[in-house]
Amino acid sequence: MGLNDIKARIAKAEKTAGRIPGATQLIAVSKVQPNARVEAVLEAGHRLFGENKVQEAAGKWPAFQERFPDAKVHLIGPLQSNKARQAMQLFAAIHSLDRPKLAATLARLAQELGHCPELFVQVNTGEEAQKAGILPAEADAFIKEVRALDLPLKGLMCIPPVDETPSLHFALLAKIAERNGLEGLSMGMSSDFEQAIAFGATHVRVGSAIFGERDPG
Ligand SMILES: *Cc1c(COP(=O)(O)O)cnc(C)c1O
Repeated sequence: MGLNDIKARIAKAEKTAGRIPGATQLIAVSKVQPNARVEAVLEAGHRLFGENKVQEAAGKWPAFQERFPDAKVHLIGPLQSNKARQAMQLFAAIHSLDRPKLAATLARLAQELGHCPELFVQVNTGEEAQKAGILPAEADAFIKEVRALDLPLKGLMCIPPVDETPSLHFALLAKIAERNGLEGLSMGMSSDFEQAIAFGATHVRVGSAIFGERDPG
């Protein structure tokens, strides 16, 4: 288990970048991992996790949370509107708000349920056709729309293209956040979280470097 190593590397990256110690939250991405590995990370005291599928999270987290009531899970994968209600009950934050229809659904459910997870707007910084997220040129207008719905917007999230320098995408995301007065930046994974921290990440999403490689099934 690489939890302590990753925590040490985060602390070092914060120091190098002149960030406040503890400014970056570590989301341990537990998708597809065997329960025993997730349990080991819980036993080690870690309490913040990430999952990319509503169904998978619903199948494993309620039982873990009975034993570790302060464990929190963030949704980092795409959300279909018909799973929004379930997602709002399971997750402390949703990092994949990427379209007006989903924003409207979340706003309606927030009224009905009386609470809403913290939200991150996903930005498709690489403008990739196969990837979710709002286009950079449309981000400012969408952020205004989300705010007008009175939703708890915390920040922005991106997943850079695999074959490009991630720093350019982290810088772009940080710039969009800054001009919109948003403090949250969900960016950086196992291979690039230190660079993300240098560009101001407040949430890094690290899976394989903590738990080991995922079994592709
Ligand atoms: C799986 C996943 C991660 C973690 O990836 P690793 O390379 O294992 O650290 C981070 N963000 C998202 C959106 C993911 O789906």
